[in-house]
Amino acid sequence: MNNEIKIIGAGLAGCEAALQLASRGWKVKLYEMRPAKMTPAHSTDKCAELVCSNSLKSLREDTAAGLLKQELKQLGCRLLDVALETSVPAGHALAVDRDAFAAKVTELINDNPNIELIHAEVTAIPDGNVILASGPLTSDALMQDLIARLGEQHLYFFDAIAPIVSAESLDRSVVFEKSRYDKGEADYLNCPFSKEEYLEFVTALQQGEKHTAHEFENEFFQNLDFRFYENCLPIEELARRGVDTLRFGVMRPVGLEDPRTGRRAYATLQLRAENKDRTAFNLVGCQTMLKYGVQKEIFRKIPGLQNAEFLRYGSIHRNAFLNSPALLNPDFSMQAMPNVRLAGQFSGVEGYT
Ligand SMILES: Cc1cc2nc3c(=O)[nH]c(=O)nc-3n(C[C@H](O)[C@H](O)[C@H](O)COP(=O)(O)OP(=O)(O)OC[C@H]3O[C@@H](n4cnc5c(N)ncnc54)[C@H](O)[C@@H]3O)c2cc1C
Repeated sequence: MNNEIKIIGAGLAGCEAALQLASRGWKVKLYEMRPAKMTPAHSTDKCAELVCSNSLKSLREDTAAGLLKQELKQLGCRLLDVALETSVPAGHALAVDRDAFAAKVTELINDNPNIELIHAEVTAIPDGNVILASGPLTSDALMQDLIARLGEQHLYFFDAIAPIVSAESLDRSVVFEKSRYDKGEADYLNCPFSKEEYLEFVTALQQGEKHTAHEFENEFFQNLDFRFYENCLPIEELARRGVDTLRFGVMRPVGLEDPRTGRRAYATLQLRAENKDRTAFNLVGCQTMLKYGVQKEIFRKIPGLQNAEFLRYGSIHRNAFLNSPALLNPDFSMQAMPNVRLAGQFSGVEGYT
C-alpha cells in the first residue's frame, strides 16, 4: 500500500491530520504557502495560527463546544493537548496563548520524522493521496483549479462582517444594558426602536448602495455570482427579504424590556462588547456590504447611535468552502477525485474547534 500523503495547508486541520497520520506510519508532505504567500488574515509563518480570537470556546460538557472537546479528547486529538498546555485563564472557556500554541504545534510538526513541512503554494490538486485542508482563505490559484474541476456552483461563498463603534460615542440616555431574558450579566447594550424608526431604518437598508465585486476581487472572481452563507447574511439582504424579517430575527425585542420603562420596543438592535474594557461595541447582526459612507448614514439612524464613531466599517470577504453533501462520499473522499479527502473549514464546518 502506498503510504505517502500530501496535505495542503498547515492550519489547524492540516496539522492535526498530519500528526494523526504520521503516528500511524504514514509519510506526510505538509504544504504551507505562508510566509511567501500570506492570506488576508494570517500574519506569521507558523503552523496552526489562530487568525482572530484566542478562544476555543467552552470546556463545559453541557455545551456543544465542550462536548465536542470531550469527543476530541477521547479520539486522541493532538492539538487539544497543545491547547490545554498553552492555555490562559478564561473562566469556563479554553483560551490559549496564541503564539505559544502555534510555536508548539510547529515544533511537533518539525520534530516528527514522518512529516516534511514544505513552504510552498499548491496551485493545482496533485496526484496521489491528498488531504485538502487549505481553509476558508484558500489561495486564488487553487480555488481556480477546483472551480475548473468541480464547477463553481459547488464552492465559494462570501461572508460579511459587522461594523464596530466606540463606546464613548453612544448615547447612554437611549441605549440600555441587558442580556436577553437576563441570561448573562447585562453583557449587551440595546438600542430600542419605535415603529417609525424601525421602518425608516429598514427602508434605508433596502435602498442603500452596495459595494460590487469589482471593488475588492480580482478579475476571475469578479465574474462569479455573490453567494452568501445563509446563517450570516448581510443586513441589507435580510431587509430586502421582508419588512419584518429583522424584527423577527436578529432585531427581535423579546426578553429585552427596557429596565427604565419595563416596556418592550418595536425592535431592538444589540451591541456586543469587543474587548474586556468595553471601549468598543460590535453591531450584532449588522454584517454588511453597503458602501462606507452609506453605512455611516444608515447606522446612525439606530436610536442611541446618532453620533456613532465608527472604528471599523462592515465589509465583505471571500470565505471558501465546498458543498460537501453534494461532492463527498461518506468517507470524506471526493466523488470527482477519490484520491482527495477534505479536512477543516473547507469541508463546510466553521471555527477553530
Ligand atoms: C477573518 C477570520 C476570522 C475568524 N475568526 C474566528 C474566531 O474568532 N473564532 C473561531 O473559532 N474561528 C474563526 N475563524 C474561522 C477559523 O479561522 C477557521 O474555522 C479555522 O482556522 C479553520 O481551520 P482550517 O485548518 O480549516 O483552515 P486554516 O486554519 O485557515 O488553515 C489553512 C492553511 O492553508 C494555507 N493555504 C491556503 N491555500 C493554500 C495553498 N494553495 N497552498 C498551500 N497552503 C495554503 C493557509 O495559509 C493556512 O495556513 C475565522 C476565520 C477568518 C477568515
